[in-house]
Amino acid sequence: MTVKLSKTSKLDGIMSWSLNALDTCQGSIDSKTGGLVDACKGCYATTGNYRFSNVKAPREFNKRDWIRDDWVSDMVQALDSSRYFRWFDSGDMYSVDLAEKIYQVMTLTPWVKHWIPTRMEKFPKYKAIIAKMRALDNVSVRFSSDSVTGEYENGLHGSVIIPTSNDIKDGMTLCRACYDKDVSVIAYPAHGKTMAKVIRIALAA
Ligand code: SF4
Repeated sequence: MTVKLSKTSKLDGIMSWSLNALDTCQGSIDSKTGGLVDACKGCYATTGNYRFSNVKAPREFNKRDWIRDDWVSDMVQALDSSRYFRWFDSGDMYSVDLAEKIYQVMTLTPWVKHWIPTRMEKFPKYKAIIAKMRALDNVSVRFSSDSVTGEYENGLHGSVIIPTSNDIKDGMTLCRACYDKDVSVIAYPAHGKTMAKVIRIALAA
């Protein structure tokens, strides 16, 4: 059986292994309100092309597929000629067992620079596996801020959404350096109508 990877067009066609958004994103829920955090209210992976069945189907397949025994070796084989790999163009590592398997893939592919954005650091049970991933030279784990207006916790978050590229502040680096462990916070200018509405509400609050 082969694994199903997708191309991230925003990132020069770098390959990604993804799951459907929200369904696998426990970190998208605001623990105080029970609603979605701002960044997930405007999530690009819940709109546009991501609603098409041909985009959703491989992500549903992946949710079942990672459980099989030879998934790790198949992923390693699939990354044979890759130099960069993005985990979760959409979705998140919703299971510690999945995170352990991702870690195995990372350790077995030292020639690949892995970038993994996540909100699962909010849950203590992920602390140990995330620490193991972070100890690898070829892995950049970035905790995503829930803000859409550029707020983040220094030393914790590794990426944040900003309303436009003009809103970049000291300490942030605009996109493109996600794989570089030495870059502490990546800023993503927002895009899409849904996100624009979420930002208007957040700025007015
Ligand atoms: S965690 Fe990421 S993929 Fe999931 S809903 Fe939030 S922004 Fe979208």
